[in-house]
Parts: sequence; C-alpha cells; structure tokens
Amino acid sequence: MIEKRQFYIDGKWVGPEAPRDHFVIDPSTEEPCAIISLGDQADTDAAVTAALRAGPGWAATPPAERLAAVERILAIYQARGEEMAAAMSLEMGAPIDFARESQVGAGIWHISNFIRAAQEFEWVHPLGEGTPGAMIAYEPVGVVGLITPWNWPMNQVTLKVIPALIAGCTMVLKPSEEAPLSSLLFAEFVHEAGVPAGVFNLVNGDGLGVGTQLSTHPDVEMISFTGSTRAGKAISQAAAATLKRVCLELGGKGANLVFADADDKAVARGVRHCMNNSGQSCNAPTRMLVERPLYDRAVEIAAEVAASIKIGSAHEPGRHIGPVVNAAQFEKIQGLIETGIKEGARLVAGGLGRPEGLNKGFFIRPTVFADVTPEMTVMREEIFGPVLSIMPFDTEAEAVEIANATPYGLTNYVQSQDGARRNRLARLLRSGMVEMNGQSRGAGAPFGGVRASGRAREGGRWGIEEFCEVKSISGWAD
Ligand code: NAD
Repeated sequence: MIEKRQFYIDGKWVGPEAPRDHFVIDPSTEEPCAIISLGDQADTDAAVTAALRAGPGWAATPPAERLAAVERILAIYQARGEEMAAAMSLEMGAPIDFARESQVGAGIWHISNFIRAAQEFEWVHPLGEGTPGAMIAYEPVGVVGLITPWNWPMNQVTLKVIPALIAGCTMVLKPSEEAPLSSLLFAEFVHEAGVPAGVFNLVNGDGLGVGTQLSTHPDVEMISFTGSTRAGKAISQAAAATLKRVCLELGGKGANLVFADADDKAVARGVRHCMNNSGQSCNAPTRMLVERPLYDRAVEIAAEVAASIKIGSAHEPGRHIGPVVNAAQFEKIQGLIETGIKEGARLVAGGLGRPEGLNKGFFIRPTVFADVTPEMTVMREEIFGPVLSIMPFDTEAEAVEIANATPYGLTNYVQSQDGARRNRLARLLRSGMVEMNGQSRGAGAPFGGVRASGRAREGGRWGIEEFCEVKSISGWAD
C-alpha cells in the first residue's frame, strides 16, 4: 500500500494538522491502493499563507526566469513520464499504454504549447495606433486556487499550474481525492525544478473541505476549476462573497453531425472517440446525429465497432479501454443504461452488467443506443462512460437545432466532405470548440466551452491570459 499522507506546503512535505486518512481505490481491482490525507482549514490556511508570502517575489521574477522554471518542469516530467503513467493508471484506471501516450502525452503537449505562447507573450505593449502613451500590461492575478478532476489528471493540472506559474501567480492545487497520486508526483517535479518555496503548494482534500475552503478564502483571488457542472455552481456561489474570479471548465454533451457525404471512417472514428478513456472525457462526442441516407449503415458500423472494443485491466499492456473510475460512476452509468432501455432507445451494442469474464473492477460494456430522441435521458445527461446515442436527421437545420438543444456547449463535431457546409456549421454550432473531419485542435488553441460547460479558455496564450489582470496605463514614457 502506498502511503502519501503529506502535503506540499512552502517548499516542504508536511503532515496534515489533524489526521484524516482517505483510501485511493484501484478501479481495476476495487482494492485500496494508497492512503492519502484529507486536509482541513488549518492545512488550507497554511498553504494560502505560503502562497501569499511568495507572491510578490514570484510576480517580480522576470518572465524569462519563470519560463526557465517551466522548461525545467517539462524536462523532469518527460524524464519521469513512466512513473507518471503508472500513477495515473493505478489511480483512475487508464490502461498503461494509453496512460503513457495520451494521459502523460497531454501534459507534455500543454506544457510545450504554453512555453511557445510564453515566448511570444508581450507582458507590456502599446494599446494601439493613435493612442500615444497608452499601454496595456498583463499582471498576475495573485494567489490562485486550482481544483482538478480525476479523468485526465495531468491534462488538467498542467492546464492550470503551468500558465499560473508563467503569469507570476502563486497557487494552491487541490487535485481530485479520487486521483491524487499523479499530482503528488507532479509536486515532486515542481520541487526538483527549483521553483521557489511557497509558489506552488498542494493540499489534498475533498470538495466540501479543502475545495470549499479555497473557494471562500479571502486571500485567494481566483479559482480555476475543472469538474462537474454541479460543483462549478457550488464554487461560483461559494466564491461570490469574496468576489473572486472563477474560471470553470465543466461537463459536456458533444454532438457529432455525420452527413451522408462523410468520409468512410467517420462513424468508426466517432464511436472510438466517444469510448476513448472509457467515455470519461468532457468533450466526448456522445450524441451522434446521422443524415438519414447513411443512418442504418451507421448504426451497423457503430454496433460492430463498439463490440470490437476490448476491455481490461489498466495494468495490462494493449489497446483496450479500462474501468471507469469508481463505484459511484459505475452505478450511475449502469442506471443511465437502464433508463435508456426503459425509455425505448434501441440497444445495439453493450448493455447492463460487466463485460464477460470480468467480475471485479468497475468495467462497463461499450454501449450503443440507436433510435434515440432528443427527449430521452441518454441524449440529455452527461453519462461519463462508454455510452453512445445515435439518432437520424433529415436537414442541416434540424441537425443544428438538435445539436444546440442542450445546456452544454463544449465541443461539437462535423463530418462532411463539403467544405462550405463545414464552415457554415462551424459558426452555427453553439460551443466553445468545433472539430471537423477528425482534425483535433491545433497546438496552443484554447480549450473551453459556453453555458453549462463553463466559460474558461485554457491552453496557449488564452490560458496564460486567464491568470492575468489587464492593466490600462496612460502617460507611459517612450
Ligand atoms: P467533481 O466536480 O465531482 O470534482 C472535481 C473536483 O472538484 C474534485 O477535486 C472535487 O474534490 C472538487 N469538488 C467537488 N465538489 C466541490 C465543491 N462543492 N467545492 C469545491 N470543490 C469541489 O467532478 P469529477 O467527478 O471529479 O469529474 C468529472 C466531471 O468533470 C465531469 O462532469 C466532466 O465533464 C468534467 N470535466 C470537465 C472538463 C472540461 O474541461 N470542461 C474536463 C474534464 C472533466
């Protein structure tokens, strides 16, 4: 059993003020694999105090030095990538090969993109032509609280910690209590990179404890949160009294519009994308809308692809998908599959219960529902498991209407060989991101949504700007 009861505060590993053990469960075996501590107010206060003290020094550190620290973190992250892959695989069930390439890889991609954006970032620049002496300066927000989920642990941690460091903020990270091991390892990387004491702090805890303590803390200027829409609302309310900046990356219910002229891999690609990471991605294309002439064939392909997806332990090498993160998610997903069946959706792949041969572990059968309607629960609720819903449409306008008929708005997808149609739809779909014909976001593109998906923009230069206050200056001497 791994024992990691300490927090990282003011450059040191320290024990909790009061012991409160929490078991991390290996979702592949359902057995406890690690013990951490859940912090309380005294731990949160100590971390915020350290961040507050380190603030002025870090803000005054030249951007090039802050960037050099981030470059050192990247080098260590890459050198210790194998340890990181093992940590994520154990804590949240990403199969080890997938953890190595995608989960660890996502962190490398974001840090590299931030480094490029930081190299080009103009911290003070003229407002524009015709306004002599008018300048715009970007300054750190101050002490920031970073609250992250378990589904893409290092993806989210790097999307927050790295731009906060670059911007000159000091911080307290509270990773998900379900998947804290990767963040504890990341804290080692930050320490090894020589980031000054107090700039980065980590306190483990749950949402109601450390999460709320950070959201309400008078010395925390901003909360950057990724997680459920439910918690996003709670944080916004908790943060209101101290008028914090609140940046939220929340859930999604992405539509994938597949037209009859789509390339012949489009349906299979959409199914695999939905099931990737066992369906635990906020930007998963979980609603496949198919133009009528292709519909029957698309359902057939989707059923075949889902049935061909292998499922297995996160500890085994290979291209399979792993379990979902915990018992609560397992039960929730089972309940939603049951509701889909009861509400009359046609089950064409997967279904209730564990996959054959797997009696232990939070494994879900890759499931496809056809003939769903927009009113059905499986079309409306974020399932966060390997479950795809498919329905037909007749006109482009109808497809847009269905796609936009959700409170969420994170990523929508379009599959069509008609470029004019793609460009038109890219503007009509109500979401922070639109990805078409299997092309994923460009390096340094902002990640974020609208409405119930939150309105943050993370990654690249937009991600750095989120951790900055914009100052207007006039009378600047040439
Ligand atoms: P969650 O909201 O339960 O937990 C996320 C984090 O918030 C955890 O660290 C948790 O301890 C903390 N938390 C929970 N309640 C809190 C509260 N009241 N105050 C402060 N902190 C609180 O979500 P989860 O189950 O860990 O993650 C899954 C959710 O995250 C899904 O809904 C998914 O769509 C969303 N997500 C969104 C994005 C995005 O970028 N939009 C990315 C990944 C995941």
